[in-house]
Amino acid sequence: VVWPERTEEVAAIVRACAEARVPIVPFGAGSGVCGGAVPLHGGLVVDLKRMRRLVALDEVGRSATFEAGAVGEHLEHALARRGYTMGHFPSSIMCSTFGGWLAARSAGQLSTRYGKIEDMVHGLELVDGLGNVHALDVRADRGLVEWVVGSEGTLGIITRATCGVHPAPAARRMRGWSFPHVDGGCEAIRRLLQEGLRPAAVRLYDELDSFLHRQSSGRPAPEVGEGAALEAWASSLGPSPGASLAERVQRRALGAALGLPGALNRVLESILPYTQGGCLLIVGFEGEAWRAEAEADAAADLLARTGGRDLGPGPGERWLAHRYDVSFGMSKVFHAGAFVDTMEVAASWDKLPQLYRAVRAALAPLAFVMAHFSHAYADGCSIYFTFASRGRTPLDTLRRYDEVWQAGLAAVTSVGGTISHHHGVGLLKAPFMPAEHGAGMRLYEGLKRVFDPHGVMNPGKMGL
Ligand SMILES: Cc1cc2nc3c(=O)[nH]c(=O)nc-3n(C[C@H](O)[C@H](O)[C@H](O)COP(=O)(O)OP(=O)(O)OC[C@H]3O[C@@H](n4cnc5c(N)ncnc54)[C@H](O)[C@@H]3O)c2cc1C
Repeated sequence: VVWPERTEEVAAIVRACAEARVPIVPFGAGSGVCGGAVPLHGGLVVDLKRMRRLVALDEVGRSATFEAGAVGEHLEHALARRGYTMGHFPSSIMCSTFGGWLAARSAGQLSTRYGKIEDMVHGLELVDGLGNVHALDVRADRGLVEWVVGSEGTLGIITRATCGVHPAPAARRMRGWSFPHVDGGCEAIRRLLQEGLRPAAVRLYDELDSFLHRQSSGRPAPEVGEGAALEAWASSLGPSPGASLAERVQRRALGAALGLPGALNRVLESILPYTQGGCLLIVGFEGEAWRAEAEADAAADLLARTGGRDLGPGPGERWLAHRYDVSFGMSKVFHAGAFVDTMEVAASWDKLPQLYRAVRAALAPLAFVMAHFSHAYADGCSIYFTFASRGRTPLDTLRRYDEVWQAGLAAVTSVGGTISHHHGVGLLKAPFMPAEHGAGMRLYEGLKRVFDPHGVMNPGKMGL
């Protein structure tokens, strides 16, 4: 593992590796969830975290240049001290880097307003697989920047980049809504965005995800945070000091039910329509006070007209307060011998209902499954499936995990969705790249030969 501090050091490292044909794996903070930073063929891990400076803030052009190893939370603090924000807030902001965001085409929780990282980037510096340093600017090299952003270290190492910034928001208006079912909620979001409103946060939880949020709301733990539903499950499965006998029996029963996901999903599907809870939608606006206020009013009007029931600011504000409370409860699920994971996919609005149903149908026999819709845009939306399951033995559990991914991604491809909205491809989704990109893969292979003729840059990833 090496920790370079300057671009010239990165270039020297790459030149040495290219000459000796030693594989290189660029490493940000290792939060990628698709195996992109796994050194499949050994070699050298180039950890960028010592390259973390704010290089320049251009207040006239409204952009900031950071070195690639800046951890997200530090980057936002550096900007906030100067009255700005990049508007990029992935749930992993405390454990992911600027370069990692660019390499994996990350999306922040407020991407509906601020865009994904590829929408923010003005330019970047890349050390290719021969050690050459390229300064790429979207005004001159947009196509090339588009290829590099999302290439997960296969074309080179991003050493610094410039992204747009915004004045820190003066006001924020969060609100919760309830819709009787997912389709109505999706329709309302589509109309909201296509009428030109730009909420910062839009999140619609399906019936089961909403139900679990309601279940968890009695606890001090996150109520509508990113991990609320997972927390609810985790606490059902994990060790239970002080739990009553009834609670322990319930935990055991839930744990056992995870081994029978098909039946569990069917039971829940038949019960949920009678719980009267509906689907929770969170919509939030931010920016200048007058604009946030006006947009929130216009959205409230539209959501009420499209069948939404106003739940007031509470659910939205709780989500905001707990939005990084993710995954810490998940270890309990693993300790209980089960697995839990997430699959984020996307489609244009016309295909979105099909995508939701197809992936659900593919996963339901294999895993307990729920979903929420977030990262919505005028032309489409992402769906974030959360699934948990266990096999009879550890080996069986591993097999089931692979089956879930195979079945889920095959379903995505079959309805014309995309296999990745923001987690990247890495190893996990690599087998599905040719089906989605067709001739695009040949272009990518061509670029790979130009930028990395010796094949040392993160070999074995992205379906190359
Ligand atoms: C709890 C949790 C929540 C998450 N939430 C979100 C979310 O809300 N939104 C989202 O988009 N993602 C999310 N992720 C996924 C992950 O945080 C993102 O993929 C992130 O962009 C990875 O950044 P990293 O610095 O950790 O990269 P790493 O994991 O270190 O690397 C990811 C890939 O990029 C390559 N790479 C890293 N740095 C560079 C570089 N400088 N140059 C070239 N290649 C490089 C690596 O080789 C690897 O292939 C989450 C992950 C976790 C664990």
